[in-house]
Amino acid sequence: FGNPWIFIRGVPSLKFLPPEGPMEVAFAGRSNVGKSSLINALTGQKGLARTSNTPGRTQELNYFVPDGYSGEGDDLPPMALVDMPGYGYAQAPKEQVDAWTKLVFDYLRGRATLKRVYVLIDSRHGIKKNDEDVLTLLDKAAVSYQIVLTKTDKIKEAGVPRLIAETMDKIKKRPAAYPAVIATSSEKGKGLDDLRAAILETIGH
Ligand code: GDP
Repeated sequence: FGNPWIFIRGVPSLKFLPPEGPMEVAFAGRSNVGKSSLINALTGQKGLARTSNTPGRTQELNYFVPDGYSGEGDDLPPMALVDMPGYGYAQAPKEQVDAWTKLVFDYLRGRATLKRVYVLIDSRHGIKKNDEDVLTLLDKAAVSYQIVLTKTDKIKEAGVPRLIAETMDKIKKRPAAYPAVIATSSEKGKGLDDLRAAILETIGH
């Protein structure tokens, strides 16, 4: 992931999607799960994804791509990272939740180049009801997804293997779920190499 990454566009509705081209992976999660921090940590670019989350901010799919040849010998294949709008705001009005669901479901159903969605789960909270709803949406859309635990530095280190096992158990009957779970901490740089390797394998590199 040594290339510089650039933001190419925010997609508020499907007609603004970039033409299908390179393989893409997307990131989803409740607001405040640490999604921006993880994208910034993965790409090594602090300011890439916004880390402030304003409830009710414009709901867009944000596209990031590697910016060409870095000259460092670790160039990435053509690919895109898609930052999906956060969900689960406590105060979100129904229209906003419906708009989120429509944008996301249309995207999931229609995007042949989308190889996997990484669903981020806060290690302190585990899978909540609105996460379950999103997993069900992904199962319905038949889009492969994998759970990524975030902020593992916030729980006891000895609890991480147990949390991974519990999470794997919770998703094992879900048809589109990838069975393994990746544990990360953006703050401590943990699990980032595992996630990078998983992404590259997913896009067939
Ligand atoms: P987003 O709303 O999902 O994009 O979440 P952010 O990336 O903005 O993170 C939400 C909050 O969690 C911020 O205060 C971050 O500093 C904090 N955070 C994110 N990742 C980590 C992590 O790995 N460890 C710790 N301790 N805090 C984190």
